[in-house]
Amino acid sequence: MSERVRVRFAPSPTGHLHIGGARTAIYNWAFARRHGGTFVLRIDDTDPERSTQENTAAIMSALRWLGIQWDEGPEVGGDYGPYFQTRRHASYSAALEHLKAAGAVYPCFCSAEDLQSARDAARAADGSAGYARTCRTLPAEDTAARVAAGEPHTWRLKVRADRGDVVFDDAVRGESTFSSDVLDDFIVVRSDGTPTYNFATVVDDAEMEITHIIRGDDHLSNTPRQILVYEALGAPIPVFAHLSMIWGPDGKRLSKRHGAANVEDYRDLGILPEALVNYLALLGWSLDDKTTIIDAETLTASFSLERVSKNPAVFDAEKLEWMNGVYLRKMTADQFVDRMVPLLTGAGFMTGEDAAQRRLWLLELAPLLSDRVKRLDEIVPMVAFLFTDTVTIEEDARAKILEKEGALAALDATAEALGALGDFSPPAIEEALRSVPETTGIKTRLVFQAVRVAVTGSTVSLPLFESLSLLGKERSLDRIRAASSSLAD
Ligand code: GLU
Repeated sequence: MSERVRVRFAPSPTGHLHIGGARTAIYNWAFARRHGGTFVLRIDDTDPERSTQENTAAIMSALRWLGIQWDEGPEVGGDYGPYFQTRRHASYSAALEHLKAAGAVYPCFCSAEDLQSARDAARAADGSAGYARTCRTLPAEDTAARVAAGEPHTWRLKVRADRGDVVFDDAVRGESTFSSDVLDDFIVVRSDGTPTYNFATVVDDAEMEITHIIRGDDHLSNTPRQILVYEALGAPIPVFAHLSMIWGPDGKRLSKRHGAANVEDYRDLGILPEALVNYLALLGWSLDDKTTIIDAETLTASFSLERVSKNPAVFDAEKLEWMNGVYLRKMTADQFVDRMVPLLTGAGFMTGEDAAQRRLWLLELAPLLSDRVKRLDEIVPMVAFLFTDTVTIEEDARAKILEKEGALAALDATAEALGALGDFSPPAIEEALRSVPETTGIKTRLVFQAVRVAVTGSTVSLPLFESLSLLGKERSLDRIRAASSSLAD
C-alpha cells in the first residue's frame, strides 16, 4: 500500500460495545497494524439524547480489555483531534462555509409539514419519496435575505443534475452502484445548525485523512451520499469496506434478544479477551479456510480485506466457548493462576495477600481447572468447597450416594486409612483409598463416590485425590467424619 493507512472506529456512545462493533474495531485495528498504519478512535456523540459519557467510558474500557489499543483518540490524543464529534463544530461550520462559497449547497426553508405533504403527494403521483428540490431554484438574492433575516432553514447539498449513478468499488462487496434518482438534495446541516451524520462523518474522515472506511454494511446506503459530500468538498474519496452483519442462530441480526450481545457480557461469562478477539476475527474473515486458532500477533500480521467474506456470519456461542477452552488450556499454570486470583478474591474466598502466600497451592489447583473449564465463570463454583469451613451436601447426592448400603462403613474405613497417612499427596491418598475396598469388601466406586460427596458436597467435582490433597488432611478428615456422624444419627 503506497499511501499511509489511516483507519478509524467511530462508535456512537448510545450503548456499550456490541459484538458487531467490536468486530468492526478489531478489523480496523488489525488492518492498521498489518500496514503499519494508524488506528483512530473517534466518538460520534452527536445524538445528545442517547450519547452518554458512561457509554463512552464503557466502550473504551471494553476495547482495552480486548487488547485493542488506538493510536489516536480520546485519552491518547493525536494531531487530528478533537476526537469527539461534539467538539468539532468549528470543522463543520468551516466545511459548510466552504460549500456555500463553492455554490455546492443552498438553504431550504421548507417546514417539516411542507416536506411531508410534498412527499405524500409525490408518492401518490409517481411513488417517489425524495425531496422535490423546491428551494433549489429560489433566486440567490431572496434566499440570502431570508437567511440574513433569521428565517429557519436547513442546508442541502446541490447534487449535480448530470452526476449520474454513484459507483464505487467496495473492498468487500465489489462494485456497488446507486442510482442518482434516489440521491435527492439531502440535508447536510439542520435548522438548529447541527450537521447530519452523512456530513459530519465525511468532514471528520476527510480532515482526519482516513484512507479506508471499514464499517458495518448498515451504512452501505449512506455511502453514495457521503461520496457526494467528498466530491463537493474536493476531498479524496477513501476506500470503503462494508462488513456483512452478524446474525444470531435464527438468521436475524444479532441483538440483545439472543442473550449476551455486549463485549462485557462475555467478559462476565468468563470468556478470555484473546479468545473473543480470535472468534470475532473469524466471523467474516479467514486466514486460510482451515486455521481456527489465530492469536493477535498472527491476526495483525496477516489480516487483509481480500479475505473478508460478503456473506453474513452466524454467531455461534458454543464455538466461542470451545475456542475459549482451547485458550484456557494453552495457558501456563502461572498465567492461569493470574486469571484465577481476581475471581477468587472477588468471590471472597481469599485476599490478595493470601493468594500471594498460597501461590504454590494455587499452582497445583490450576491444571485441574484448566483441563476442565471452558469459561472462567465455571471456576468459582468448582472450587468453592476448598474455601468453606463446612460443606453443604446436596440433597440428591445424599440420597443417591450417602444413604446407600455400605456408604457409612466406607466413610469410616476411609477416615481410618487417611488418618494414618503422614504424606498427604495425591498418590498417597490414592493408595489409602484403594485399600478400603480390599479391607471392607465395599465396591471401589461407592467408596470413591461417598468420599467425594462427603468432602465436596456434590457428585461432580475436581479429581478426588487431588481435591483431598488440596483441602488438606485435617479438613478432609473433618468432613468425612461429619458426613459419617450425620448418617449414623
Ligand atoms: N457513528 C456511526 C455508527 O456508530 C459510525 C458509522 C461509520 O463508521 O461511518 O454507526
